Amino acid sequence: MKKTEQQPMNININLKDAVDIVCEECGNKYFTDAMQIKKLSALLSPNGQDSLIPIQVFICTKCGHVNSEFLPQI
Ligand SMILES: [Zn+2]
Repeated sequence: MKKTEQQPMNININLKDAVDIVCEECGNKYFTDAMQIKKLSALLSPNGQDSLIPIQVFICTKCGHVNSEFLPQI
């Protein structure tokens, strides 16, 4: 019988080197995900119909603010 060993995933990320992102408005460290929906009008849409484009953003759990770095760069 061969024993299958579970190798721990070797991820070279040191969380000590990572910085906390805080809410620009209230300084809260916790975020939750939300969907921002963009609507592309039929005139601009490649298929000639109104298109809805969902974009995932992170909102502050305390005040609901979305940091500018989470917004899609347009
Ligand atoms: Zn906030």
